[in-house]
Amino acid sequence: MSGPREECGIVGVMGPERAAEWAYLGLYALQHRGQESSGIVSADGARSYAHRGMGLVSDVFDEEILTGLPGAAAIGHNRYSTTGSPTLANAQPILVNYRDGFLAVAHNGNLVNARTLRRRLERKGSIFQSTMDTEVVVHLIAAERDPSRDRAVLETLDQLKGAYSLLILTPDGLYAARDAHGFRPLSLGRRGDAVVVASESCALDLLGAELERELGPGEVLKIQADGSSEVLRASPAEAECLCVFEQIYFARPDSTLFGMGVDVARRRLGRELAREHPADADCVFAVPDSSTSAALGSSEGSGIPFELGLIRNHYVGRTFIQPGQEVRDFRVKVKYNPVSSVIRGKRVVVVDDSIVRGTTSKALVGLVREAGAAEVHLRVASPPLRHPCYYGIDIPNRDELIAANMSVPEIARFVGADSLGYLSFEGLYRAVGSRDQHCDACMSGNYRVPLEPGIEEKTAFETLSLSSAP
Ligand code: AMP
Repeated sequence: MSGPREECGIVGVMGPERAAEWAYLGLYALQHRGQESSGIVSADGARSYAHRGMGLVSDVFDEEILTGLPGAAAIGHNRYSTTGSPTLANAQPILVNYRDGFLAVAHNGNLVNARTLRRRLERKGSIFQSTMDTEVVVHLIAAERDPSRDRAVLETLDQLKGAYSLLILTPDGLYAARDAHGFRPLSLGRRGDAVVVASESCALDLLGAELERELGPGEVLKIQADGSSEVLRASPAEAECLCVFEQIYFARPDSTLFGMGVDVARRRLGRELAREHPADADCVFAVPDSSTSAALGSSEGSGIPFELGLIRNHYVGRTFIQPGQEVRDFRVKVKYNPVSSVIRGKRVVVVDDSIVRGTTSKALVGLVREAGAAEVHLRVASPPLRHPCYYGIDIPNRDELIAANMSVPEIARFVGADSLGYLSFEGLYRAVGSRDQHCDACMSGNYRVPLEPGIEEKTAFETLSLSSAP
């Protein structure tokens, strides 16, 4: 389903002869943002072409498929959602043909008023094909009576509430937009006359495009076929709510996000963590890959040597077949293996970026002990996660979040660590900038964009299509 569990990566390309190939490479660089499905819509003047499939970018596309996506304009999307059955009907970009030609939409984020909008549209006769909140965007644009597409797009965006970075491809050009609070990132780059817009700057790097700037919160940009761009709406002075979890966990360390390099931000998190929770230890290591920068920062701050204590198997997909024999903690074991020569007899600091359910930490602490560690000190480079996210990051409900149900000493006992230290909010914002500019609802419960009633229900949006009556 859609609802609160979307995590996605998006890329838009305007100008090169074979834009779909650029989009494909961009999606490769954004694979970490979504592994469930992948898709590209390309356009050649007034004609559009689409291909979507389940799985990784490398599974979904091959040369022949890319050849079938001609044109100098393209948008691409990687999707990941954890709940509900993953279906192709929910893969993006969405593509429709309506009275004004084709309309393709790729969305990263989560709309908090999608139910209300959808109900209103269905009452007027719209027929929805998916359970994605993104589909309301398509219907809203198509339903606008204003003959100017620019105004139809702007008026549609005015009705959306919540978190979104959006790419909208039409025969008139490519629209790129960020919600008024700027929850989710979006970067703009150029290579010659070609324009690239992507969730993260690591996608621009791969394409050889130079990062020009990030779109501002609330900004709407229109990019034309000749590479020229026009700001249809500049950033208003509304409060910024940059998702702090992008810096902590989600984005790639080689990206620049919200004006700061992600590796720089994470090293600072690690330094703060070492200052707030010192440990008498022989080595520091990361739970790779997302916490590597934070563990390096922790080592730099404490002077304790950084080691490679855990090796991650990169080839484990999101679903793998659990073998018949009973292997304790197999899900974690198949992904991480301790390096016993580093660990045996040592007092170790293990740095992770976040604890969600606590199952990974518990299993890892067990593995590290089995490998002979004398002491295990777990350090977490974020404050405790106690609340679900409704703005586009997969953080489960409170009953599954260990920190919503246990105190820090209880969590330490549960995971079996000799000590446990979480970063404070003060430490977090000393590292990444002002708290006023960020959203930390998953840690604080402070939802700065109001949620519509019923959004807490996991399957709220999905059941709507079955139950909504005129
Ligand atoms: P858990 O076993 O549920 O506590 O998972 C903790 C691990 O999941 C940490 O190593 C995090 O790096 C990682 N993690 C944190 N947030 C997410 C997320 N939204 N999606 C997938 N993995 C995550």
